[in-house]
Amino acid sequence: MLFRRQQHTAKRRWRMPAKLLIASSVATVIGFSAICVSVMLDMRRGEEQIARQMLENLAAGIDADIGRNIELYDLSLRAVANNVVMPEVANVSKPILHLILFDHATTAKHFGAIQVFDPQGQLTIDASSLDPRPENRADEEYFTVHRDNPDAGLFISKPMLHRGAYSIVLSRRINGDDNAFLGVVVGAIRFSYFHELFERLNLDPDDTITVLRRDRTIIMRKPFDLDVIGKNLATVTGWSAGNLKPGTSYAGQGPVDSIPRLYIRRDASGPLFVVVGKPLDAVFRIWHTEVMRIGAIMLVLVLFVLGTTLFLAREIGRRARAEAKLEELAITDSLTGLRNRRKFDEEIDTEWRRAARQRTPLALLMIDADHFKLFNDTHGHQAGDQVLVGIAICISDSIRRAGDCAARYGGEEFAVLLPGCDAADAFKLAETIRTKVMHWSEGETASTVSVGVASLTPASNIHWALLLEAADKALYAAKANGRNQSVLASMPKLSRAA
Ligand code: GH3
Ligand code: MG
Ligand code: MG
Repeated sequence: MLFRRQQHTAKRRWRMPAKLLIASSVATVIGFSAICVSVMLDMRRGEEQIARQMLENLAAGIDADIGRNIELYDLSLRAVANNVVMPEVANVSKPILHLILFDHATTAKHFGAIQVFDPQGQLTIDASSLDPRPENRADEEYFTVHRDNPDAGLFISKPMLHRGAYSIVLSRRINGDDNAFLGVVVGAIRFSYFHELFERLNLDPDDTITVLRRDRTIIMRKPFDLDVIGKNLATVTGWSAGNLKPGTSYAGQGPVDSIPRLYIRRDASGPLFVVVGKPLDAVFRIWHTEVMRIGAIMLVLVLFVLGTTLFLAREIGRRARAEAKLEELAITDSLTGLRNRRKFDEEIDTEWRRAARQRTPLALLMIDADHFKLFNDTHGHQAGDQVLVGIAICISDSIRRAGDCAARYGGEEFAVLLPGCDAADAFKLAETIRTKVMHWSEGETASTVSVGVASLTPASNIHWALLLEAADKALYAAKANGRNQSVLASMPKLSRAA
């Protein structure tokens, strides 16, 4: 019981600082980790920002180049559409007509020769030949769209084989008086234009550039893949136009392949728009390396701090237990394990004051082994020691309350302090102890004890020595009366004084 109490006190004493230490370490670790995560996230945002800017600039450059070329080409188409219906050119010779209709832009690299078709789709004028071969394009979309709709404006076809080269065909309607349909003027931009444009850029293999028509038909894409060209993204399941609105970005898997990328869509007003993409792996490559490096350092630090904390917490516990043991030893009688005289003197002083404050009784039992000198002489000192231990066990087995204090008062004498115990209860306990000792030791080594009992409610002007004296006197009386008995001190005056 004593050992358990000792352990309990030690536990209580070290748990608090150890818990504080662990809590502060954990809080520090969490705090530092949070700062670290926040810095890492900031860094990630920074990397993304840089990539976004780079992609935006790239998209803007490509878009401007394509836009400018289409505009220039369209100017030529418009000029042809306007000039071809002028009455002045009706009767000029073919070479002069060519000179009037076709400027130098139409012969630029990558641009197909401009052609004029009559309302029946029959080729009438061809910039590349004064004497074009008969050709009818009445079924082509770039023809029908203008025939059926006077307001189609500039039409850009899907990518197609046009006059032996993959191209996009541009066409405009030729209007007569009252918007009468007089045919179409047709031109083409070859894929080689896009190839050359993209080759000028310094891109990683997995970076993408996609040029699309407003209806989301892919006009051109880098990396080049004929299967993808001409595909309409509106028909791709699982991909919605809302994912990448004009002027916005999208991070994730795109509609064409499964590589997650950061895509930027250039918000341009032309007939085509540009989307550029960079794999997320590449965008965050430096960041990933940093995360791994800093994460590893953080992990080592966290493990170190937690390890040190656990070690220190255990050390605190060990020391506290050792201190508690020392303290316990300082107040314990080594032979019997009861409190020693020093502790008893402290306890009686404390309990006396408390009883005086609370006006409660304080009882004291003085227990003395009978004829112990004789016992020692007969059975030897060691057997005597065993009896003292036995008596101590009988005493500690009999007391129940937490505040009770059993001590070895000296030699073969014991004292039991019983706060809040009146004379009758104290006498009962004395008898319990006495009979316990009597029954415990039987036969040749039979031992008995005599008990002096005193109980009183102290007053502040009385010293506890009075209680001790009374119990001692009662003990003498018990001895005088023949031993192996308990005697209650009669202290009517003292009680009244209290
Ligand atoms: P009484 O019944 O009147 O108390 O007789 P008594 O012999 O017990 O009293 P006395 O005071 O004459 O003797 C006390 C004896 O207790 C003396 C000593 O040998 C013995 N004693 C005191 N301390 C110890 C101890 O630690 N161990 C042992 N074995 N004996 C002790
Ligand atoms: Mg004695
Ligand atoms: Mg004795």
